[in-house]
Amino acid sequence: MAQARFDDSAAAPEQSREELRDLSRVLQERIKELDCLYGISHIVENSGGSLEYILQETVDLLPLSWGYPEITAAQIVIQGRGVTTENFSATRWVQRAPIFVHGEHAGDVDVFYLEQRPQRDEGPFTVDERKLLDAVAERLGRIVERINTERLLKMGQHELRDRLTHLARVSTMGEMASNIAHEVNQPLTAIGTFAQACRRMMEAGPAHQLEVLNALNRITDETQRAAEIVRRLKDLVRRQETERAWCNLNSLIRDVEHLAAVDARLHDTKLRLVLTPSLPPVLVDRIQIQQVILNLIRNGIDAMQASEAVDREVVVRTLMRGRSEIELSVCDNGCGLSSDVGSRLFEPFFTTKPHGVGVGLSISQSIVTAHHGRIWYSQNASRGTTFFVTLPTVSEGSHETA
Ligand code: ADP
Repeated sequence: MAQARFDDSAAAPEQSREELRDLSRVLQERIKELDCLYGISHIVENSGGSLEYILQETVDLLPLSWGYPEITAAQIVIQGRGVTTENFSATRWVQRAPIFVHGEHAGDVDVFYLEQRPQRDEGPFTVDERKLLDAVAERLGRIVERINTERLLKMGQHELRDRLTHLARVSTMGEMASNIAHEVNQPLTAIGTFAQACRRMMEAGPAHQLEVLNALNRITDETQRAAEIVRRLKDLVRRQETERAWCNLNSLIRDVEHLAAVDARLHDTKLRLVLTPSLPPVLVDRIQIQQVILNLIRNGIDAMQASEAVDREVVVRTLMRGRSEIELSVCDNGCGLSSDVGSRLFEPFFTTKPHGVGVGLSISQSIVTAHHGRIWYSQNASRGTTFFVTLPTVSEGSHETA
């Protein structure tokens, strides 16, 4: 028994050493695996969403986790994009895992040995390396799915905002349509009257040639006036890619005035412009900023419907704020804002008007913010409300050109 016990104890350390070596090998494999997967997570965090960066950094990381890093090359091909390690060369000692994106085979990740090595579980590669490669391929698939989805979402949001902005503009135009029809009708009526006058004068004989010429000039003027109204309307209603250009804010306001004045007249409201001359230009999408101004003026007109007609006045002002901001304000002396209305003004679809849509201010806010500006309101000391919009006159980094 003593002998047997002695033999047992002699075998035990040998066996434990063997077990320890195995355990240590397994642990080393696990550590390499973890290093690799942790490394990929780290790469994704630093990538700023760039798939090119993620693929290149990942492919460079892979060889370190294989049995012979010094003779290991790797390649990732996915959705038509291919990246390789610098030492890349395709050999017959390859381990490959497919990458699936949304259930579709979208590419592969390959690890190559550049020289022959002893036979292991799968050619010269081990089962653990196979598991790691599968895990990497799986991770890459998920990453690509996420990036694709984020891009789609971003595109969707842009598209959605563009559509909503356009919709709000068209709905404002729709509300103004009858007023605008009236506005176009005026030059048309004038043209008709002058044309009849011409006819009468020509029938009366050649003595009236000068008057005929005058009447024809008036016809030309009125035609231009009608064409100008139609052009402004078409500009505002047209759906277009956002397009920024350096503009003079005052001339942009004067353009809007032509349309807003029709509305103002019909609501017995005065529209007064107090524009600071020689303002520096602003880099804006004309149509969008006009939409904001028009919306503020219309809100001002609406707010004064319960006021005495003599008091109804909307004042649009521009002035410099400091050296790099222009402030536009639209002031009315209407009903003002209760605190609960004031706190919800910029919420989409918030309206207190029976036929309001409630998107004007929320869209105005998103337009102004996209122009690096601000929009807010304050209650007037006497009566009514003033809305303020600021726009930068120079964008960051463009000081030399502005
Ligand atoms: P809508 O005009 O369709 O209601 P807006 O987003 O332009 O949509 O305005 C939201 C709400 O803000 C209005 O319904 C109104 O209650 C309030 N509001 C906006 N401008 C003024 C103003 N100048 N004076 C008083 N209330 C205003």
